[in-house]
Amino acid sequence: MDIEEYVNKIKSKKLNAVNTIKKVISKVKELNKEYNCFITICEDEALEQARLVDKNRKGRLAGVPVSVKDAICVKNVQATAGSKMLEGYVPPFDATVIQRLKDEGAIIIGKTSQDAFGFGSFSVNTNMSVPKNPFDKNRSAGGSSGGTACVTQLADFPHIGIGESTGGSISAPSSFCGVYGLTPTYGLNSRYGLIDYGNSLDKIGPICKSTHDTALVLNIISGNDPRDQTSLNSKKIDYTKFEDIKNYTIGLPKQYFQNISPSVKKSVEEVISVLKKLGIRFVEVDLKTTKYHIPAYYLIAMCEASTNLAKLDGVRYGSRTSFTDSDNYNDYYTSVRSKNFCAETKRRIIIGTFARMSGYRSQYYLKAMKVRTLIINDYKKAFEKVDCLLSPTMMFTAPRFDEIEKLDPLQEYQSDLLTCGPNLAGIPMINVPCGKDENGLPIGFHIIADHLNELKILSVANAYEEAMKK
Ligand code: GLN
Repeated sequence: MDIEEYVNKIKSKKLNAVNTIKKVISKVKELNKEYNCFITICEDEALEQARLVDKNRKGRLAGVPVSVKDAICVKNVQATAGSKMLEGYVPPFDATVIQRLKDEGAIIIGKTSQDAFGFGSFSVNTNMSVPKNPFDKNRSAGGSSGGTACVTQLADFPHIGIGESTGGSISAPSSFCGVYGLTPTYGLNSRYGLIDYGNSLDKIGPICKSTHDTALVLNIISGNDPRDQTSLNSKKIDYTKFEDIKNYTIGLPKQYFQNISPSVKKSVEEVISVLKKLGIRFVEVDLKTTKYHIPAYYLIAMCEASTNLAKLDGVRYGSRTSFTDSDNYNDYYTSVRSKNFCAETKRRIIIGTFARMSGYRSQYYLKAMKVRTLIINDYKKAFEKVDCLLSPTMMFTAPRFDEIEKLDPLQEYQSDLLTCGPNLAGIPMINVPCGKDENGLPIGFHIIADHLNELKILSVANAYEEAMKK
């Protein structure tokens, strides 16, 4: 049952939201024991929302269960962003995207596991819970929105996931878990109520089971928000009104097809031949700045992250430690942060602080910002000739936890090679599932477009999805 069908049943009283949500909650409790996809399951709040839905029977998402990345604030529900440092922090307000979902009758069922503050690609850099891949529990669900993608794949009921991406955290887990994940243009969806990773990079987006569900959620959460100064004031579009893609030209960035695992390569080549049959023309594109994506991204992301985390001092939010008479504030600050941040968080604070110190700022942070402009121009040049770009989403399928343990941090950062660029440029992309590898693990491909061209990527995704149903 897709979301619209389910919502119609709720509205016409064929289904009762309280009964449905009771079943959903008991199901996700079971799933959580096996897959660790949630940090918090909000049973009482969900039932309260369901009672309201049964009373009103209105809204485009009446009674639809929603799982939200823990970094996005939901009123009166703990938000840890995957870190013990924020354990016990209960925001007294809803993020704008959550408010918009609730206004349409959606029901928040839980907050999902993730890399602490979004710092990772496999959801293992956390001292809370590590989600497991729905297709093999010895493997990663991807990161950092791993829990959201995991539960979206496992849910055998209508379900919406809400994730967040700084450099690939919607695409990577969607690819590893075999679901649709849309990273919007920077500023299309409000960031108000998001626990920031990197303010110039963060985007909130839907993770769903179909293109249509994804488009429907985007219709609801997008649009200007006066509470977020970086929120765009763009024209409202109905993203479910897909375009005819017959005359589209799609670019294949040659740098994005290097070092790809053979099964991923084969699968994406099959996608290209399906799309060719639908009338799409393909051309090769040269994205010369690709080699700068990872260094520029990690410098900017870590600089911004280290300033954002400075406010976590063990006084205002979340975890505290005991303060003794002999402590001075600096000792207290050090001890609470040493105890509650995990290793990757500390690494990023140290590197980010170093790179924006006076004397280094122009060598690192400001230089990375200039490189970012070159990267944006490189994409803009490509979009003069093509409607969209297509590439694999990840170079490989979900790795095993024991393989991830052996990676050093730089190797882990390299895994974002295909996702960092569009994220740095702030352009939209969608992961579309396209088959499995020899181990039965999902493969995904990316469609990327110029700023505010979400409708184009959704149209291509939908055309492929429909073609594969035949
Ligand atoms: N893997 C990237 C990082 O660690 C991206 C994470 C994200 O998008 N939140 O920064």
